[in-house]
Amino acid sequence: KWARVRGRLRSEYGEQAYRSWLKPLTLVGHTNGEFRIAVPTRFIRDWVMQHYSDRLRQLLAGEVNEFRAVEIVVDSARAPVDAEANQPIYVQAPPAAVAELPSPGPGADDVSAPLDPRFTFENFVVGKSNELAYAAARRVAESKTVPFNPLFLYGGVGLGKTHLMHAIAWHIKKAQPERRVIYLSAEKFMYQFIRALRHKNTMAFKEQFRSVDVLMIDDVQFISGKDSTQEEFFHTFNALVDQNRQVVISADKSPSDLEGLEERMRSRLGWGLVADIHPTTYELRLGILQNKGEQLGAEIPPKVLEFLAHKILSNVRELEGALNRIVAHATLVGRPVTLETTQEVLHDLLRANDRRVTIEEIQRKVAEHFNIKISEMQSARRARAVARPRQVAMYLAKQLTSRSLPEIGRKFGGRDHTTVMHAVRKVEELRSTDSSFSEDVDLLRRMLEA
Ligand code: ADP
Ligand code: MG
Repeated sequence: KWARVRGRLRSEYGEQAYRSWLKPLTLVGHTNGEFRIAVPTRFIRDWVMQHYSDRLRQLLAGEVNEFRAVEIVVDSARAPVDAEANQPIYVQAPPAAVAELPSPGPGADDVSAPLDPRFTFENFVVGKSNELAYAAARRVAESKTVPFNPLFLYGGVGLGKTHLMHAIAWHIKKAQPERRVIYLSAEKFMYQFIRALRHKNTMAFKEQFRSVDVLMIDDVQFISGKDSTQEEFFHTFNALVDQNRQVVISADKSPSDLEGLEERMRSRLGWGLVADIHPTTYELRLGILQNKGEQLGAEIPPKVLEFLAHKILSNVRELEGALNRIVAHATLVGRPVTLETTQEVLHDLLRANDRRVTIEEIQRKVAEHFNIKISEMQSARRARAVARPRQVAMYLAKQLTSRSLPEIGRKFGGRDHTTVMHAVRKVEELRSTDSSFSEDVDLLRRMLEA
């Protein structure tokens, strides 16, 4: 089973990520649906928890009948010699354990999961891509009644769904402390329910939700497929909505796209307000970085923030992780953050975010555009008609990928890095004097970025 999970992770995240982060995972124990996984360093543990834990849990849950939790432990005996010595450190406290084992005994009143103190409305940066979800969450939090039921938030991983739900909970706790708010992951909901079943105590389970004013369930896609839990969730949901209690749901897909969910459930989830969070825009990424940089109290040049906003497109979690790493590095070595150190420190991350445009693609598009053979990109010919397009391709490779100058040179018939540097300068110079050439280059750039 474990081999299968590893195989999946490998094919989903690619060889590079697999080798750096996932290969070091060792399954050291598995009893009653609880998995124990060892990693060689704390850094790897934190990284895995930030980036891969959701998927890891999903995959493990798919392998056993009753999935309960996964715990990641650091076992330095597994570390390759000297590996710890040059590990970057985290500024932020490491995230809480992947899935805390709930306290034993049925009917514990504390079903609500802990809230992250950083996840407030004040700390949430609003942009075009998330303004609807933000406004809806605020309405729910500030309202004394139930403005729409349920509020269904959906969007890709790391785009702020959990942040908004915690923000709602914090706000209500402060402004209307008499209202009882419960926030929990769908996984925990499932676990609670299964445990109640085992203890033949589903009454107590239901009791927990009866007096709730606001129920928030995060990542409901985890409920899909598990029949009895789905049924129970549906009952709980219906009962609360019927009694006009606020329900807030999040998922990675819209209600109609949630697979493995019964039709009546799907349609019912879409009855209230469905708000999606789109992938981030450049402006939002920059805003988040500025905000976060201030919070860290670190001196980060605007150029570096712009660079990161351009390069890290995946999600906000990764963006924050990147910023933490460069600040940690700067603190550790006692030198200011610069563009160069940033590129160095984030080497692996930048690579992973780079997959969209390859140098080969750039060469192909540029060759097409200037009507030359693609092989001319590597050839030694120096005629202007081929040399110019080649320079443009090198320039775009520098702009659109995070490859170093020598790496780019190698892809252009083994030229050295000074040739690439010269090409970049030449194109910049031409762009400043020849506006139609400049437009051409912009057009190519847009085509490649699309
Ligand atoms: P999701 O639940 O959608 O996977 P999270 O809510 O866990 O994503 O967000 C991932 C990280 O990104 C969190 O640290 C969160 O604070 C941060 N984040 C996401 N969106 C924003 C935003 N608009 N402003 C500030 N931080 C954000
Ligand atoms: Mg989440």
